[in-house]
Amino acid sequence: MSDPLIIVGSGMAGLGLARQVRARDARRTITLITADSGADYSKPLLSTGFAKGMPPERLAMRSPIDVADALQVTMRTHTRVDTIDPRTQTLAIGAERLPYGELVLATGAAPSAPFTVSDEVRDRVFTINDLDDYRRFHGVLSHHGGAVRVAIIGAGLVGCEFADDLLAGGHRVALVAPQQTPLARLLPPPLGQVLGAALSKSGADLRLGRSLAQLQRDDEALSLVLDDGEVLSADLVLIATGLSPRTALADTAGLAVSEAGIQTDRYLATAQPGIHALGDCACVAGLNAMYVQPLQASAKALAATLTGTPTPVAYGAWPVLVKTPSCPVVALPPRQAPVRWRIEGEGDDLSALAEDENGYLQGFALTGACVRRKVELARVAPPLLP
Ligand code: FAD
Repeated sequence: MSDPLIIVGSGMAGLGLARQVRARDARRTITLITADSGADYSKPLLSTGFAKGMPPERLAMRSPIDVADALQVTMRTHTRVDTIDPRTQTLAIGAERLPYGELVLATGAAPSAPFTVSDEVRDRVFTINDLDDYRRFHGVLSHHGGAVRVAIIGAGLVGCEFADDLLAGGHRVALVAPQQTPLARLLPPPLGQVLGAALSKSGADLRLGRSLAQLQRDDEALSLVLDDGEVLSADLVLIATGLSPRTALADTAGLAVSEAGIQTDRYLATAQPGIHALGDCACVAGLNAMYVQPLQASAKALAATLTGTPTPVAYGAWPVLVKTPSCPVVALPPRQAPVRWRIEGEGDDLSALAEDENGYLQGFALTGACVRRKVELARVAPPLLP
């Protein structure tokens, strides 16, 4: 009988791995431990729920009980693992000591905010990074009723997707970010401008090139003071200023971690024998991609490794499909800043090709009708992790 496997985290990475291991080994003892409610849901759908009027219950595909039944795993929900002791191969959960045979960390990434939120406004300020967060935000939004004024801080993928989705759901949105154009990490400025114009046309009040200086209560509303002194009024604030890999637990085991995540090799192995990591918390051979296709490939490779067939993971040239229906966007960001962006097309239909000094394609970004080029371009772009 093989060692009991404990997976910490039941997001798409942890659950995906449990599914893959179970498909290869019907008898392995598997325990999934999660700090949240443990429902099986697709995180990318969180930023599409308001347009479709989706209540949180409909985003949960299966309850933790159904997951445990279907996969024949033990599921411990609302349970936070505090520390790992690799010497005794135990996890600490409060006063409990839980032995593991093999351990996988799938602890994801947590929202990070560049400012602290005071108690005075805390009940009106949200992040949405899991189904429980969505449930809380959805509850308050529904309680307000009608068109709620939401100020979104941050114009990256999460901020832009929620902006478009909330507008489509009938709400009013202000988008505040220090960058001059939205999605600045994925899109060169001409394409960012196309997205910005589409969001404006849908009703977004763009405050780009601006930062939040102060956030305070103003009677029933919130008052946002921007760095140029302008004051915006909103009912709720959604913070979308980025995610940081959760590495605190790995730290307690003395694993190598950096800002990019828990360091692993191509086998998703950490430096500590018997401990692996995957998903948003893991930096695999120097890369933390933080999206679904890489974590699915990781789950498949790691399941093979854990069931006796050591398998390194490889990532293809997998573009990200940004869910902003008012302006279709697809991007495959280059791993290094390109020597130049070659822009083709006109109007809202643009292709930006990231090229190296020899004119080879390193990545791309597409808007409007040009998103059709994604397959053709992905064929010639280099894989993320060959
Ligand atoms: P998570 O889902 O964050 O899971 C982490 C798990 O670890 C949770 O169960 C948590 O409770 C648990 N945990 C953490 N610490 C502990 C502890 N100490 N003890 C116990 N449990 C712990 N990607 C795409 O490819 N396409 C998209 O369209 C897309 N859209 C997105 C939209 C939004 C709004 C967001 C936020 C992300 C989106 N992404 C998208 C990214 C993608 O969803 C993530 O890469 C993926 O879901 C990460 O899964 P994960 O399992 O690694 O982490």
